[in-house]
Amino acid sequence: MVLTILGCQGAYPAEHGGNSCYLVSDGKQNVLLDMGSGAIAALHESGIVPGAVILSHLHGDHTSDAGVYRYFLNMNKRRCDLWMPDDGSPERSVLNVAPYNVNRITDDTSAVYGEMIFTFFPVTHPGQCYGVTIMSGGKKLVYSGDSRMCQSLAENAAGADILLLDCAVPAKNHTDATPHMNTSEGVALWKSSGARALIITHLMPGMPVDQNEAAGAIIAHRGMEIEI
Ligand SMILES: [Zn+2]
Ligand SMILES: [Zn+2]
Repeated sequence: MVLTILGCQGAYPAEHGGNSCYLVSDGKQNVLLDMGSGAIAALHESGIVPGAVILSHLHGDHTSDAGVYRYFLNMNKRRCDLWMPDDGSPERSVLNVAPYNVNRITDDTSAVYGEMIFTFFPVTHPGQCYGVTIMSGGKKLVYSGDSRMCQSLAENAAGADILLLDCAVPAKNHTDATPHMNTSEGVALWKSSGARALIITHLMPGMPVDQNEAAGAIIAHRGMEIEI
């Protein structure tokens, strides 16, 4: 399985950047995790047309290009599977249309694309948000979606090969109201999980990751490709 980071910024994209969008591939099937602003341009640079899009939650920095992607699909007479929570939001209504084949994410959902098996677990973030576990060829990738530190994330992270975590906020900028992990929390989760590597993502524009807190973790960047 190969993970390619097409966008890794939270909130809004910086110059030449892009919001959350991660491509996972087993070499035959291609699936996107989230599709924030800038995702389609990055997708076109990769030359890949994914068979499915999975939205961890329906905040704009994870969904905005999924709205625009409808036009690409319509104009090219394609359809695409779309997985998302049913949170009753107006954003969901916009996306709950053809050319998407819409599927609902719940605690019990699983999805299979080629050798990749996707399962979901609820995480702690305003509204409904799901973390995603992807198993393929005996390897395990866990994506937090957007989340504060929570028990379900700790449980699902155990034994992962790669953790892709929303933990770019430095501890000094983090409060009880911040809807994301701080970097120290993400690194502590990585160490306790036994995971081989941590990728820190959801980078906030104008708020650099604290290199001391990051302590051996990988900091995401657009175009990064990791074989798992
Ligand atoms: Zn976000
Ligand atoms: Zn969010």
